[in-house]
Formats: sequence, C-alpha cells, structure tokens
Amino acid sequence: MVEGHRPLELAQLRQAPDHSNLLAARRRSIDLDHHALRDEGIQGRTPGKAYWLMCQSSCCEGQKSALARQHSLSPIRGSPSMQAPLDHLLQTILRHHRASVTSHRKLRILCPVRRLVPTSMTIEKRHEGLPGEGERSDSASVAGIRNALTVDVEDYFHVSALAPSIHRDTWDLRESRVVSNTRRLLALLQENRVRGTFFILGWVAERQPQLVKDIAAGGHEVACHGYSHRLVYEQSPEEFHDETRRSKNLLEDLTGTAVVGYRAASYSIVRKSLWALDALVELGFAYDSSIFPVHHDRYGIPGAARSPHRIITPSGASIAEWPLATAKLLGCSLPVAGGGYFRLLPYWLSRWGLQSINRKECSPFIFYLHPWEIDPGQPRVAASFLSTFRHYTNLDKVERRLTRLLGDFRFGTVRDGLKGLGLLSAT
Ligand SMILES: [Zn+2]
Repeated sequence: MVEGHRPLELAQLRQAPDHSNLLAARRRSIDLDHHALRDEGIQGRTPGKAYWLMCQSSCCEGQKSALARQHSLSPIRGSPSMQAPLDHLLQTILRHHRASVTSHRKLRILCPVRRLVPTSMTIEKRHEGLPGEGERSDSASVAGIRNALTVDVEDYFHVSALAPSIHRDTWDLRESRVVSNTRRLLALLQENRVRGTFFILGWVAERQPQLVKDIAAGGHEVACHGYSHRLVYEQSPEEFHDETRRSKNLLEDLTGTAVVGYRAASYSIVRKSLWALDALVELGFAYDSSIFPVHHDRYGIPGAARSPHRIITPSGASIAEWPLATAKLLGCSLPVAGGGYFRLLPYWLSRWGLQSINRKECSPFIFYLHPWEIDPGQPRVAASFLSTFRHYTNLDKVERRLTRLLGDFRFGTVRDGLKGLGLLSAT
C-alpha cells in the first residue's frame, strides 16, 4: 500500500456496522487508485445502471464472461445509495484476490455496453504459502486459491445416521478408534504439508486430551464440534448454549488458545435452528461452518449462500459463515464437500466439482471428513439400509482419494481462510 494513500471507500463505508472487520482487512490489502475512482470510477457512473467487475488476473483467463456475470453489481441508484454497490464491489474484489496469490492485478469496471473505463485498482502483493510449501502445479489446482480442509473428530458410534442403532449410554463401552484414525490423518497431512481445522467433539476431548494437544501441536486449528453430538434442532437454546460452552472451555483449557470456530453435529443449523448463531456469537465464536446449502433429510438450507460470507443472526448480530461446498451442475447444487459425498461420488466428479468452484467462481471451498471414514476395519453396526449405505460405502477408498485431493488442491485452516477473505479480524 502506498504511504499516505487513504482508500476512498473507508469513509464511504464507515456506516456499515457489520463490515468493521472487512474494513480492517481492506486497510491492509487494497490500495485503490482513489483519484481514478473519484474522477472516473463509480461516482461518475449513470445512476440506475448496473456495472460489472472484470478481473484480468491469470486464474480468470478464459472465464471472463462467467466472472462478469457472477460479479454483477446491484444497480447504482444515485449518490445516497452509493455505499451499497461500492461495498459489494470491494467485497468481491477482496474475496477473490485475498484468496489468490496475486501481484498487482488490474481490475476494470465495465459498463453494460462493455465500454472499458480506465478505473484501475491495485491489489498488494500477497503470498500466503506455508513455509516451504510449493505451489500445486497440476491441472486441477488453481494457483493461489487456498481451500479449507476440515476434520470432524468423532468416533464411528457418534454418527447421527447410526444413532437409532446405538444408544448413547453404550458409547463408553464400545471400542474407540478415534485416536488411531485421527493420528493417521495427522500423519497424512504432515506428509503433504497441509494444515487443517479439526472440529473436535467435547465428549472425545474429555476422554482423549492428549489427542487434542497433539492436533494443536501439529499446527492445526482446534475448533468445536459441540459436546454430545446431539442435533442442534433437537436441543433447547439453553441446552445448546450450555453444552457448547462446556466443549469450548474444555478445548481452550487443553490448547491454551481461544477456540473461535464451530460446526454443528450433522450440519444441524437449519432454518428452524438459526437461533444457534446468536448463541455462538454470545459464546465468543468468530465463525460457523454448519450450513449446508442442499436438500437432505437431516440437514440443509436449500438456496442458502454458497460462498463464505458474514451472516446476520436472528437478533441482528453477525458472524462469519463458511457453508459446505456445493458445485453448480445443470442449475442444481451438487454437494462435493466431502464425507459421504466424497465416498459415494467417483473421485473425478468430486474433483471436477471442487475445481469448478475454484476456477469458475474464483472462490475457495471447504472440505470435510471424519476419522472413521479412513477405517474400513471399524466394527459393523446393524442399521437401516440407507444408513448402512451412507456409512460403509467405499471406506477403503477414502485414504487414497484424500491423498490425491491433497495433491490436487491447496488447503489451509478455516480461520486463516476467512481471515484471508477479510471475513475475520486478521489479529
Ligand atoms: Zn459430527
């Protein structure tokens, strides 16, 4: 950023209360040519017309028309409402370029008649690679886009699909395999120099404190997966608050660091349980990753935003949300976020879907799996046909597929990813 060069948008956006973190990130990351913006940029546009952002960075080559559509701005309705479209524009730029390793890429604003306007914006050079980490160079990887790898640390007997067959009173009596499976995952991530986010169940943390410490010592982010693995919408707000706090405190005591991320059991923050987001804000969480924008019998908010964003809670507060990954296929949302979908879909289809999020949408994705998914030798539990199919199919293929995935894409933690997108405070 050029010294003494104050981006114009700071003054204009100051009234947006939910964007304070974004503003902080912008101060560090974006250097707008504010003279050009003032003299020839958005303020000079015709009110009532829509404008498009055209990105000329390398990862968008060949995707210009799709990108222009995706980044379509709300119509500018004259100077009193300038703040909203400008904010949208800057948010788009920030999301795209903080997710990429970019160096002084040029962006242009296009008017509807495709007349090029010489408004240029400069993004500071930013390299976010882990020490010693090389760029992925094969065809699937999109240089610079760092996705989030997540592991929901629980045992095979905690799984919601098997809950009708396994009473929770029997959990302590069953053979636990979570430690050995998680250690295998840790070794695989270490080999591939990948750091991820581990959403740990409080019930597991209480019984396996050393595992939690080892995850943190490996440089991974420790986050919260609740305590009991009860679905959020089957709990009262008070029960949810209490068990989430219990789990968060437990993890923080073990790691000595603040736990800022949360994922609900079976993605059970759905329309009827959005109140849980308020509890998360109250408990000091900075982000949630529980919303799955799909139709499913147990979870999902079809039509919900698919990219990382800040979501407004029912009481009007806001929290960062990173929805589970879906790819657009023939107008439908195809879940490609990991877990059962990663086991059931052929690898090439998961790879295509994830690649399309990186390439066509220029957006990072979030991927998840469970330690029991790399364990074909786990004890078999009698369950319904559907649950058996969902739980046991292709367990023997996951480790191999995961190894390929780690080579095909770049990954990091959720916290770092959201910070890079300007959706969390960088401190
Ligand atoms: Zn879970």
